Amino acid sequence: MAKKSRKFKTEVQQLLDLVIHSLYSKKEIFLRELISNASDAIDRVQFEALTDKKLLGKDEAWKIKVTADKEARTLTISDNGIGMTAAEVEANIGTIANSGTRRFLEELQKNKKTANAEFIGQFGVGFYASFMVADKVTVVTKRAGSDEPAVLWTSTGTGTYTLEESERTERGTDVTLHLREGMDTFLEEHEVRRVVSEYSDYISFPVVMDITRTTTGENEGDEEVTTTEEETLNSMKAIWKKAATEVSEEEYNEFYKHVSHDYTDPLKVLHYRAEGTTEFQALLYLPSQAPMDLFWPDAKRGLHLYVKNVFINDDCEDLLPAYLRFLKGVVDSSDLPLNVSREVLQDDAVIRRIRKNLVTRVLKELADLKERTPEKYQPFYEQFGTVIKEGVHQDFENYDKLVELLMFASSKSEDGKPTSLKDYVARMPEEQKEIYFLTAASLAQATHSPHLEALKDKDYEVLFFVDPIDEWVTQRLTEYDGKKLKAIDRGDIDIHSDEEKEAKEEALKSDAETYKGVIEFIQKHLDEEIKEVKLSTRLTDSSCCLVADEMGMNANMERIMKAMNQEMPPVKRVLELNPTHPVMPKLLAMVEADAASETLGDYADLLYSQALLTEGSPIKDTAHFAQLVSKLMVG
Ligand code: ADP
Ligand code: MG
Repeated sequence: MAKKSRKFKTEVQQLLDLVIHSLYSKKEIFLRELISNASDAIDRVQFEALTDKKLLGKDEAWKIKVTADKEARTLTISDNGIGMTAAEVEANIGTIANSGTRRFLEELQKNKKTANAEFIGQFGVGFYASFMVADKVTVVTKRAGSDEPAVLWTSTGTGTYTLEESERTERGTDVTLHLREGMDTFLEEHEVRRVVSEYSDYISFPVVMDITRTTTGENEGDEEVTTTEEETLNSMKAIWKKAATEVSEEEYNEFYKHVSHDYTDPLKVLHYRAEGTTEFQALLYLPSQAPMDLFWPDAKRGLHLYVKNVFINDDCEDLLPAYLRFLKGVVDSSDLPLNVSREVLQDDAVIRRIRKNLVTRVLKELADLKERTPEKYQPFYEQFGTVIKEGVHQDFENYDKLVELLMFASSKSEDGKPTSLKDYVARMPEEQKEIYFLTAASLAQATHSPHLEALKDKDYEVLFFVDPIDEWVTQRLTEYDGKKLKAIDRGDIDIHSDEEKEAKEEALKSDAETYKGVIEFIQKHLDEEIKEVKLSTRLTDSSCCLVADEMGMNANMERIMKAMNQEMPPVKRVLELNPTHPVMPKLLAMVEADAASETLGDYADLLYSQALLTEGSPIKDTAHFAQLVSKLMVG
């Protein structure tokens, strides 16, 4: 192969520029990324060799070697893993910008706070971290089981890279960093040791380094002896195999960072061994903050699966339902065959049993967290509540448990502090029959909704469903503890005692008689917009509001459907007027004076616009609305 020079894709180049010029903190993580790549490469050849022994070539022990050359000022990370063909080099670290590159760029540009090197592994672009400390990087690599010669990739991180043939004859990869000025500390044994033990201790293959020692003999006059020996820098412990009592919190946390690419400590560790029909070890983590990719449809997710200590894959989605995708960790089972394929995994009885066990365990852990340490559960729920709600929708089997995990702000909560359904029910006054809720686009909107007025009067609490997914939750969650959940902006609300109702109906009848002309006028004027005009029993202060049918689409749902680009026929709602509001007698006087007056039409438009605004819906003709308000002000 002749030497070829290639240009990086624009996005890769932008990424490199940022890596070189903007990431200052924790430059040492480049080593974690390169060792992690080396370890992945060994995992892969180990796995492929299960079905093709030839790949192993001459029998040798798995090894990742770090070599520091102080004279040349280079640091080399070598592995005897899977290696890459020329085409793979180009695909993985050359021209092709993967989706992670773009997202990392966006994230860096959007949020300077995250201009933190530790972040880079999350985006599948860890290799480029090398350029933080090196002004030239070479990769010599040979693919296991391929007849193609080895390749040498060279780049200074500025615009181009070259590819040419190289000499390596055994499978594996050497990544050599020509260190930038001022980065010589990474050539020191103690620094390499420190970084390896801090970030890569749990790597399951030996990370070795040649250590040179000079010793003098015991007797005076003995000559100095210099010996160089390969020493292993990491402890290689599969910490999930150990007993929980043997693992320190730091070890748990460090391993978490390795499997999750998160840089904050986890909220909770679940480490256990299951025995019985299915035996396995699980080390699971509840993160304390949601990862960037929690809602990306194409994000890589899933647990790391090991079978009898051999790494199988790090994205086993079949071990957990989608709504528990935020869990990170390892499952190691000896009940699965080693050569298990993805297709088999999907439909395997052992996997199904493990999954059931994990789900039960995790849900129990969450329930405990909520019961015992609400101060920890609440921030967790803020981060992951939305995915728990997906579970309410998806997981019929565990529906009851999941419902207990839900929290909502309410009309009685201070500063939007959420409450559980259980606590809400415990606070319900005796005569309250249903659980009331209001869906809205924001907490502020919910808090100021006119729909709350009559309930406030009764001192009934209303739950605020302000997460878009809550609309879906309400479709499943129709009842709790034998009580119906009732949307206060849909249909009639039944909050009055029989006597009150009678009195109200009486009053309503006479009001309806009094305001007949007003109702008829508005009905006719707004006929295209609304379904009906009615006098309201739910308002005390506001003049009007819009109410959906019992089964109809309310304002919030309409907004969500539009946001998802769903075509929908326009939905008409009922306009309810407050018969006790001072605007009513005024309107009546106008109707009586001149039912064809233009001002009357303007007032009807204003009332309707107000109702739309308070529920957070757009008004159709904003210019017209502005004109009307000005006109009103001029008088
Ligand atoms: P990630 O490891 O998240 O995929 P990286 O930027 O660290 O992202 O690496 C990009 C890709 O380059 C890897 O997925 C792998 O295919 C390839 N690669 C990197 N280092 C090695 C290595 N030592 N041996 C084999 N392939 C490697
Ligand atoms: Mg990597």
